[in-house]
Formats: sequence, C-alpha cells, structure tokens
Amino acid sequence: MTLPIKTASRPTTADDEAIRPAMFIDGQWTVGTSGESTLVRAPYDGRVLARVPVASRDDVDRAVGAAARAYRTTKLTPFERYEILARASAIIRERADEFARTISDEAGKAMKDARIEARRAWQTFLLAAEEAKRIHGEGVPVEATPGSENRMAFTVREPIGVVCAITPFNAPLNQINHKVPTAIAAGNTVVLKPAERTPLSAIRLVETLEEAGLPKGIVNLVLGPGGRIGDQLLEDQRFAAYSFTGSTDVGRRIRELVGLRRTLLELGSNSATIVHRDADLERAASAIVRGGYAYAGQICISVQRVLVHESVSEQFLGILAAKVREIVVGDPSADETDVGPMIGEDQAKRAEAWIREAVQQGARLVVGGERNGPFLMPAVLAEVRPEMKVVCMEAFAPLLAVETYRTLDEAIASANETMYGLQAGIFTSSIDTAMYLARRIEVGGVIINDTSNYRVDQMPYGGVKNSGMGREGVRYAIEELTDPKLIVLNLGKPE
Ligand code: NAD
Repeated sequence: MTLPIKTASRPTTADDEAIRPAMFIDGQWTVGTSGESTLVRAPYDGRVLARVPVASRDDVDRAVGAAARAYRTTKLTPFERYEILARASAIIRERADEFARTISDEAGKAMKDARIEARRAWQTFLLAAEEAKRIHGEGVPVEATPGSENRMAFTVREPIGVVCAITPFNAPLNQINHKVPTAIAAGNTVVLKPAERTPLSAIRLVETLEEAGLPKGIVNLVLGPGGRIGDQLLEDQRFAAYSFTGSTDVGRRIRELVGLRRTLLELGSNSATIVHRDADLERAASAIVRGGYAYAGQICISVQRVLVHESVSEQFLGILAAKVREIVVGDPSADETDVGPMIGEDQAKRAEAWIREAVQQGARLVVGGERNGPFLMPAVLAEVRPEMKVVCMEAFAPLLAVETYRTLDEAIASANETMYGLQAGIFTSSIDTAMYLARRIEVGGVIINDTSNYRVDQMPYGGVKNSGMGREGVRYAIEELTDPKLIVLNLGKPE
C-alpha cells in the first residue's frame, strides 16, 4: 500500500470542447436552451471527459411535459416492456466493458469494481424485464363479511404516473438501474437527473434504451446541479413520485417540498459490522477490507464502524492492519488497482480532517490516513468514541472506526446509537448469537457472516431512521412505483 503521487492535471482542451447534445427530451438529443455547460472531469487526473449542457427552466419543463404526454398516450403492454428491457439488457451485456470504462473514468472507480457494476446493470435490466410480466394484484375475500356474500373483489396494480429519478455519483449506472427500468416495467414514464459529476453512464444508458426501441417521451434525461434545477423538479406537480438516492440532507429537502406525493428515499449511513469472539477472524477481516474500502468507501452500505468483542480485538486489529497494507491504491483504470481516488480532492481533504480530529480526541491511527490530492490511504482507527465524526457521521471515505464491546447487548446499543439504519453485518459461528443480534439491530437488512456491504439486485434494499424510506430491489421498487386498485363485483342472479 503506497500513496500514489498526485498526477498533474493533464492539459485539456476545455475551452474549445464542444457541448455534447447530451440531454434527451421527447426522443431528441439536445444541448438545451440555456447556452450553459459544465465539464465532466476524471477524478483520477482531472482530464476532461466531456462538456455537457446544463438544463434551462424551459428544458426541464419540456422534459416533464414529454413524460406526462407519453404517460397519457403511449401505453406499452407488459410484453412490450419486457421485450424492450430484455433487449437493453442484451446490449449492456455485449458492451459491458465500455460501460465499465465509462464508470471508471467518470467516478474514479477501480475497473475491478466498475466491471461488477456493469455486470449488475444488465442483470438488473433482465430482472426488471421479467418482473414486467409478473405485476399482479390479489384476491380480496369480501364475501367473508355478512351481507357481502354475493360480492367478489380483487386488486390490480396500476402505474403511479410520471416519476422523477434523481441519482448520486457513487454508482452512476447502478443507482439509475434501480429507478429507470423498474419505472418502465411498471408502466410509468420518467425524468432522470443524474449526479452532475457523473452524467456519462446515464447518457450511455439512455442511448441504450433508445437503441432497444423505447418510444419517445417514456424516459427523458436532464442534466445540471441539484442546487440549480432541483427545486424546479421538486415543485412540478406533474410528477406523481420521486425516487431519490443520495444524501440524507437532500432527502429531507425532497420530503419538505413534495408534499403528499410518493417518495422513495435511499439515503446515507455509517454502517456497522459486528465481529463476535467466536467468529472466523481471517474471514471477517478479509470481508471487512473489501466491504470497507471498495470504491474508497464511497458506498452507502460501506463498513464504517467495526464492533469487535474485546477478547479478540487486538488479534483482529493485527490481521486487519496486515490486510489493509496489501491494498493496491492507484490508477483506477489499471487491472491490479483495488482502490482509486475519492470523487474529488475536497472529499479526501474532509475525510483526512475527520481522521486528524479523531486522533486529537484520543483515537489511535493503526494504519493509513495519508492523503495526496484525491487519494486517501485506507485507514483504520481504533479506540474511537461515539461522539467522534468518524463514528457518528457518514464518512463516505476509505476509513474504518473500530470499537470494542463486552456483551452482546453492548454491541447492540453501539450499533443502534446512530441516526442511520441501512444495513449491518455480523460475524459469528453461533446461529443463536446471529439471530439475537439480527432481531435487535435497527436496520433495513442484516447480513450474517458477511458485511453490511452485501447487495444483489433482487433483494429488498433500503433503510430505517434517517437512511430512508421505501425499498428498492427490482420487485420491491415496482411495488413502490405502482398502486393497488380495488375492483368489487356485486354479482346478481344470472337470467
Ligand atoms: P447528493 O445528495 O449530494 O446528490 C444526489 C443527487 O441529488 C444528485 O443528482 C444531486 O444533483 C441531487 N441534488 C442535490 N441537491 C438537490 C436538491 N436541492 N434538489 C434535488 N436534487 C438535488 O449525494 P451524492 O454526494 O451524489 O452521493 C452520496 C450520498 O448518496 C451519500 O450520502 C450516500 O450514502 C448516498 N447513497 C445512498 C444509497 C442508498 O441506496 N441508500 C446509495 C448510494 C448513495
């Protein structure tokens, strides 16, 4: 593990880089009407990847108008939705390496992880295609109520309408894939606004949908900073639902502005993973290294807090530190790299400051923590306390804060002493211990003998407390983006 030398920003042609017609409104690629643009730069070396437009009020208005019109006029059958999504899945699969390269370039994600994200993308599309044919209601036994013997009832699930999908930088393809294909599968239409730092995966994905034959207006793409076009999106009453993944602060603002409309919020966390005294420490340490530092810790379910039984804590820290020293930090495009840069130098500086502050407050820095430009070396802090930022706030950085506990109830109290509750991990060889902890930790998902950072795309995924509301995971997202309609038949006697 050596600190990469900061790469000098490569000379760019920023000034004469033409604006790419990268917004997709009513089936047309456009630069929009604002005349404004932003540069998309690689976090690794600052090179310019593209110049993309910033939407004007008029562009946003036209995108929402196109989605609202398509919702009224273009009704695809479930089989048509299946076919389009399955075709898109096949295209992504065929070009998975190009998708991975785009993710790696714009997000600074190591190719190892970018390839996994691209593989998950085509699989998620396939899941959505399959689910499009399985959306169904249920029978309701109204005849069980005296006086209703001649009635029968059932529900059908109907699309909710126009969905606003807003996504973060950290999984620029996969976060979209839990919103756009699920909305299409459900029969909705969409306006997508990806993170301003990572719009290129979104553009590629919308191109794919167009190529797969999606009729115009069903998916529209607008670009720009959330602070600039966010409020207009949130205030537009033509949206029936908001599907948002990002920080808790922005999630809260969405709830404040959208009133009674449906919100699906996937927000932040400072996830804990517990290592009990009977755990396989080697196995736990390997999984925690992967779950804590993949994509430089910038994953909502990254392991941030490690709670270790005091009787094995020094042994565990030794194993962990040795594994952390083996991490290859560097150029994200290189096959051997495990961890690339953070999304920006600003974020690396912030995390470095949190580490320094924790050390001043009495934490022990076991390994890592040095910074150069956007690179922060994977860090392990021991002897941390609950009030330290590295413990109580979302770090979203390559750092682990290790605490010890004496009893299971102490571990539960520490795990729950947070405003977040997304996922947790537990390492133990006892099913009784695992279930005792699993039932008492306040999170949306508990992973036994792996870390909080486990996710596949068909599982229900989401948080409690300030980590959000609603669930993604293809079938669950489709439920959130549809409404049950009850139909009651009052049956008479046949002639
Ligand atoms: P962010 O909240 O800054 O931005 C997310 C999106 O919201 C971006 O598209 C941004 O432009 C937009 N936005 C910003 N201000 C807005 C406003 N006022 N109105 C409307 N939209 C606005 O998050 P980020 O820095 O891109 O991503 C990191 C955060 O995302 C972390 O907190 C992380 O935990 C969270 N996250 C959560 C999950 C999950 O599934 N729970 C997954 C990935 C990331």
